[in-house]
Amino acid sequence: MSSNKPVPVSHFIRNIIEDDLANKKHTEIITRFPPEPNGYLHIGHAKSICLNFGLALDYQGCCNLRFDDTNPEKESEEYARAIQEDVQWLGFQWQGKVRWASDYFEKLYDFAVELIRQGKAYVDDLTAEEIREYRGTLTQPGKPSPYRDRSVEENLDWFRRMRAGEFPDGARVLRAKIDMASGNINLRDPTIYRIRRAHHIRTGDAWCIYPMYDYTHCISDALEGITHSLCTLEFEDHRPLYDWFLDRLDMSAHPRQIEFSRLELSYTVTSKRKLLQLVNEKHVSGWDDPRMPTIIGMRRRGYTPSGIREFTRRIGISKSENMVDMAVLEACIREDLEACAPRVMAVIKPLKAVITNYVEGGSQSREAGFHPEHPELGSRLVPFGKEIWVEADDFSENPPAGWQRLTPGGEVRLRYSYVMRCNEVIKDDAGNIIELRCTIDSDTLGKNPAGRKVKGVIHWLAADHALPAEIRLYDRLFTVPEPDADKAHDFCEFINPASLAVMHGWVEAAVKDAAPETHYQFERLGYFCADRHDHQPGGKLRFNRTVTLKDSWTRDRSQAENRGV
Ligand code: ATP
Ligand code: MG
Repeated sequence: MSSNKPVPVSHFIRNIIEDDLANKKHTEIITRFPPEPNGYLHIGHAKSICLNFGLALDYQGCCNLRFDDTNPEKESEEYARAIQEDVQWLGFQWQGKVRWASDYFEKLYDFAVELIRQGKAYVDDLTAEEIREYRGTLTQPGKPSPYRDRSVEENLDWFRRMRAGEFPDGARVLRAKIDMASGNINLRDPTIYRIRRAHHIRTGDAWCIYPMYDYTHCISDALEGITHSLCTLEFEDHRPLYDWFLDRLDMSAHPRQIEFSRLELSYTVTSKRKLLQLVNEKHVSGWDDPRMPTIIGMRRRGYTPSGIREFTRRIGISKSENMVDMAVLEACIREDLEACAPRVMAVIKPLKAVITNYVEGGSQSREAGFHPEHPELGSRLVPFGKEIWVEADDFSENPPAGWQRLTPGGEVRLRYSYVMRCNEVIKDDAGNIIELRCTIDSDTLGKNPAGRKVKGVIHWLAADHALPAEIRLYDRLFTVPEPDADKAHDFCEFINPASLAVMHGWVEAAVKDAAPETHYQFERLGYFCADRHDHQPGGKLRFNRTVTLKDSWTRDRSQAENRGV
C-alpha cells in the first residue's frame, strides 16, 4: 500500500486535524472505526474505514477497531469476524487488539453511578410508551417524569437493583437528567441504561442491563484517548449529548466528534437493515452475493481493495448530502484492473465457425502477451484450429450501418491470428444460426492483408483447446437510481429481474489453474474474477463479471490498430 500512494484529497476534517497538530492540541491523532456487529459491512462503511484508517496512516497516528456491541439481540460473532476480515482485506490494520464497547461495561456502570451521585441521572419507572409521551415533540416541550426528582440514595439503590436482576425487562430505565424542554429532543433526559435479559456475544449472561449507544460511544472514545471521533451526519444532533456526558465525567480525554455525510450510491441500498432484508427474502444468494454492495459481495464480484480505496478518495469528504453515481465506483475498479489484470480470451455466447481451408500443420498458432504494458506477466500460445468458437453477438446477417464485425461475405481479424471470411451460414430447421463456414487468408498472420483494410477484430477460441466455464454476468440490482426513495413502495419492488445471467461459455486453457479470486480481462467482454467459492482450479471453472469494459468496441479497435496485428 505504501508504494504508489495516491495523493490525499484535502477536506475539512483534514484541516481540523492539521490545525490541531499545528497548535499542539494533539501530538498524535487517534481515530476509531466503530461498527456494530449486526450485519456485514457495505460500501458506505468502506468510506468510513478509508477515512478513519487513512487519516491515521497519513498523520502517523493510529486507528482502533471497536465493536459497538450494546444491542445483544442483533449481534453475532459471525458478523464480528467478517468485519475484521473486511477491514484487513481493504488493506488496513487496527492498533493493538480489537476493542469492544463491552470491555468497558464495568466502567460504564461506574460512570453511571457517578452521574447519579452528581444528581445527573435517575431511575425512571415510566413505561417505554409513557416515556415517549412525556418526551414531547419538535414543537412541544417534554414534561418531567414523576420519578425525576428521586433522591440520590434512592436512585443508587434502584440502579444497583436493576443490575442485580430484581426487575423484569423494560420495567425501569436509567436516564440522564438534562432538560425536558430542550429544543434538541436528544437532550430530553435520554435513556442511558435499559434492562434486557439477552445473551451477549462477549459477556454472556453477566449483565441484564445494557448501556445505550450515545452514552457508551463517547465514554469508549474518551477511554481510548480518541482525538477525533468521526461519524455520519445523523449524529450531529447527538453531539451535545456526547459532550454533555464527557463534561460531567472525570475523563482524561475529551474527543471531538465531527460529522460528515453518508455515502449514498445510486442503484443500490446502503443500510444493513435493507441488505439483511434482501438476504432474508432471498432476493440475493447471501451477504456475499456479487450484486450486493457489501464489501464481501464486492470482493466476490472481483472489485479490488485499491479500486475501492481510490473510489473513497475520489468522492471526498464533506457535509453535503450526495448521491454518488455507481458509474464512479465502476470506473475506479475498471482503471485498477486495466493496469494489472492479465488479458485472455473467452467466448460467452458461443457460435461455431468451421475453417474450411484449414490446413493441418500449416495453419499457425501465435504467441500473445498477457498484458501490452506488462511483459513481465508473460505470454502464452493462442492455438488455432479447424473449429473455433466466436461470439454469437459478433455475427449479424443483417448488420446495422457501420458494423465491422462478422457478416456473410465479410472479413474480420481474429485477435492474434488470421483474417477470416464468412462464406456460408448454416441454420437448423427452426432457422436458428448454428454454424458458420469460413476461410482464413493464410497470408495475414501478424500482418495486414494485401490490398484491403480489415477493420473489425473479434475474439475467438480454438474449440479443441478451449475449456468450458460458467460465466456469471451481473447487472445493477435495482432498476431505479434510488430504490428506497419512494416511501409508498418497498425497495424490493424495484429489483432488477435481469441482474444475473448465468452463461455457459468457453475460456482459454491459459486460465485452467487460476486460483479463486484471480482477475482477468476477457478481451472485449470485461473484467472477470474466478469465484472465491465455486471456482475449482483445474476443474469446474466459474468466473464472475466484475465490470464491463467501457466503450469496449472503440477501444478494442484502437488497441488492435496500435498493436499492428
Ligand atoms: P447502517 O445504517 O447500514 O445500519 P450503521 O451506521 O448502523 O449502518 P455501524 O456499524 O453503526 O452501521 O457503522 C459503523 C460506522 O460506519 C459508523 O461510524 C457509521 O457512521 C459509518 N457508516 C455507516 N454507513 C455509512 C455510510 N453510508 N457512509 C459513510 N459512513 C457510514
Ligand atoms: Mg449504527
